[in-house]
Amino acid sequence: METVVCKFGGTSVANAAQVAKVGEIVRGDPRRRIVVVSAPGKRHSGDRKITDLLFLCHQLAANDVDFSAPFEVIANRFQHMAAQLGVDGIADESLAELRGGIAAGQSEDWVASRGEHLSARILAAHLGARFIETADLLGIDLHGLPTAESYARLATALAGDDVCVVPGYYGVGPDGGVKVFSRGGSDITGAVVARAVNAAVYENWTDVSGFMMADPRIVPHARPMREVTYAELRELSYMGASVLHDEAIFPVREAGIPIHIKNTNATEDPGTLVTATRDHTRNPVVGVAGKATFTVICLAKALMNKEIGFGRRLLGILETHGINWEHTPTGIDSMSVVISDEELGDQADELTQQMRMELQPDYLAVDRDLALISVVGLGMSHQVGIAGRCFGALARSKVNVRMISQGVNELSIIVGTSRADFEAAVRALYDAFVSGGE
Ligand code: ADP
Ligand code: ASP
Ligand code: MG
Repeated sequence: METVVCKFGGTSVANAAQVAKVGEIVRGDPRRRIVVVSAPGKRHSGDRKITDLLFLCHQLAANDVDFSAPFEVIANRFQHMAAQLGVDGIADESLAELRGGIAAGQSEDWVASRGEHLSARILAAHLGARFIETADLLGIDLHGLPTAESYARLATALAGDDVCVVPGYYGVGPDGGVKVFSRGGSDITGAVVARAVNAAVYENWTDVSGFMMADPRIVPHARPMREVTYAELRELSYMGASVLHDEAIFPVREAGIPIHIKNTNATEDPGTLVTATRDHTRNPVVGVAGKATFTVICLAKALMNKEIGFGRRLLGILETHGINWEHTPTGIDSMSVVISDEELGDQADELTQQMRMELQPDYLAVDRDLALISVVGLGMSHQVGIAGRCFGALARSKVNVRMISQGVNELSIIVGTSRADFEAAVRALYDAFVSGGE
């Protein structure tokens, strides 16, 4: 029989009632043999994710501050959940080990990983399924990417015809200790496991009925996409559509395994299917995504165009600081680099000092007011007038465009606006291609 790998996100296991829904979904199709699970997420908007509380406990303990208050919140949530599901006590041993580990100075990654560990233990007990310890199997390299050896090890461990529950988010690092992926990384675990067992489909169960054409928090009635390609999805998730971790497509794309995004709370909804190709003649644009958290460093210098190596030295300075950049818009005698705030951290002063010294620019400015929005679609390169439609819509919404970039693959047009215009720009671009633009 074919195997389906299903991954359930934080909201899908946020409390006992949600875990019960997961049980029904898994039992609803005998092909759903492998279940990957996140740590419990938010139960309502003011709630806290277990993973955030774990990071907090670790940070408090590292500063010799009492961590018992957030720890109790974590312990109560898991114990309550286990009791309501009729598997009382299943979390007790892991919780005692967690408390001891935090107090004994266990690594941040180990502490953060315990949310998934406990979540998987409870779900496995609820389903009467086998718990799989990924800390022995899933290798995570220094860049936070899954290692090639992981696939065969996971395939062996997951062989059989019984239901297995796999904790997401963590594995074993190069030093042999527990290491976590970046935030939202259970999606990557799901993809790696799907590839390892050559699944027929990788189901990703979350709290929305698929990938919407824009962030539903900005465009509440955004239409769901029925189909999207791996490449388009990568572009959208990298630019902020947080439904699926942007690195989660790589393991499944190589093996041609489709991803099906589904809603745990609306199982009948069709969701979004992610595959290698789609018919893009009717919908050249699949969606819009963006983030309002970018900074630009702009440099100008007379005759920069003749100064061979200027660009290399500028990017070299970023490299020595371990900073990834997003875009490098250039003019004849000017060059700028766009960096996400997350990457830049508090290094702006140090960077600009070094740039002034090594590059001797006539002008250097740091502009912290940039949002980037990407309009994504495979059909864009085949249709005239897409860019015109984008800029027309932005102008009608009185959004000033501060930067434009188009990838060489012509899969997206990226526009930069001020942060204050971010949401208006997302809405204008969405309307241009969905409601008002036809
Ligand atoms: P999970 O905990 O299941 O992994 P996430 O919170 O990581 O779920 O991702 C789902 C959330 O992504 C949605 O609740 C929604 O707020 C957000 N989101 C952002 N952009 C989009 C989009 N384009 N379509 C759907 N959801 C989006
Ligand atoms: N629990 C982790 C996080 O909150 C991983 C995940 O949910 O995918 O980032
Ligand atoms: Mg997620």
